[in-house]
Amino acid sequence: MTNAGLFARAQAAIPGGVNSPVRAFRSVGGTPRFLVSARGPYVTDAEGREYVDLVAGWGPAILGHADPRVVEAVTDAAARGLSFGSSTPAETELAELVEERIAPVEKLRLVSTGTEATMSAIRLARGFTGRDLLVKFSGHYHGHSDGLLAEAGSGLATFALPGSAGVPREIAALTLVAPYNDLDALRAVFAEHGDRIAAVITEAAAANMGVVPPLPGFNRALVDLAHAHGALVISDEVLTGFRVSAAGWWGLENGTDSAYTPDLLTFGKVIGGGMPVAALGGRTEIMDQLAPLGPVYQAGTLSGNPVAVAAGIATLRAADAAVYEQLDATAATISDAVSAALTAEGVAHRTQHAGNLFSFVFGEAVAGGVHDYAGVLRQESWRYSPFFHAMLEAGVSLPPSVFEAWFVTAAHDEAAIGRVLDALPGAARAAASA
Ligand code: PMP
Repeated sequence: MTNAGLFARAQAAIPGGVNSPVRAFRSVGGTPRFLVSARGPYVTDAEGREYVDLVAGWGPAILGHADPRVVEAVTDAAARGLSFGSSTPAETELAELVEERIAPVEKLRLVSTGTEATMSAIRLARGFTGRDLLVKFSGHYHGHSDGLLAEAGSGLATFALPGSAGVPREIAALTLVAPYNDLDALRAVFAEHGDRIAAVITEAAAANMGVVPPLPGFNRALVDLAHAHGALVISDEVLTGFRVSAAGWWGLENGTDSAYTPDLLTFGKVIGGGMPVAALGGRTEIMDQLAPLGPVYQAGTLSGNPVAVAAGIATLRAADAAVYEQLDATAATISDAVSAALTAEGVAHRTQHAGNLFSFVFGEAVAGGVHDYAGVLRQESWRYSPFFHAMLEAGVSLPPSVFEAWFVTAAHDEAAIGRVLDALPGAARAAASA
């Protein structure tokens, strides 16, 4: 069946034809590709077309798709039973792997999705501090729980409005939304509401509005400010964790002048190697407030699922220093080539980097780079759709929105990278004429 035929059929059976909205290509238009298999740096659609993949399952596939070590671990685990609802030795092994790498994680609780991880971390922060308010930054995404689907109201750093139908105003109003990378705005929020704030949640480096790294020292200053007011900091590493380094974004800043110590961290994506594993971790004193030791309830039938945990362990163990070096080098090669192609066609743009994550903003207005969501929105976003489709036609699958990061894998070899580079001049021309 064709992609178009499959999409029509899916739309009759599934809302919008998709199980997660960005897959519907709403932002770039056209027909989503229905994928049937993936191997290494490639994905194959139902029409038998192969694409170089720069989505990598939205992050998890750092080793490339269907890495034999991960597939073997999953197959072995599956043969021993899919789900026990009891503790397994492997869960402790995965927790220890994370704790060895990331010092602020003294204890770890496994869940199945990033949404659950952040939702539970927030409940834990509220339970621990006895406070209700949460601060988040505009343009940061932490999953789709009610309090996090909150949008900035009018004016800076106000009580939020519901960011989705179905979110009660009263729940949205427990979230304060502040502009990212703006310490003055954050100081103002704490000056006004400091004694009611349980936590600030922040992407360790923002990558859900395109890539917007924290300004040097921002994470550290944010932790200091929150702590001065008795509030916790939840550093959301669902996307950056084990992707930008073996110890995530925390690891990149650790040992530098801007080293910081969050109270809680959340993980997803790479920690499950493509299977549903996510986690929250942090100081023992806080983590031990979780049930069964403490009063903060949190649970899950599929939490620590043995097949999923096997994929996570195999992925983390295989991702050695050489893998991260290669990811960095591949990200640099591809992002430099995109930038050169755009420049050759006279398309004003800026490459935004956070470790090996990158994305592009288009237009003169943003060519100096952007540091917050308002900046991101000032770009000529319409240039992305023709660029995206030209790449897709040439056999390269990019994230179907300008507001997403690009992801490379360690399986992107010379042949795969070469295909990306070959596609760029045509795509840059399409962006220029948009
Ligand atoms: N936090 C961040 C930083 C994310 O990037 C995401 C997903 N893109 C989530 C939380 C939510 O994770 P999930 O989609 O697994 O619920």
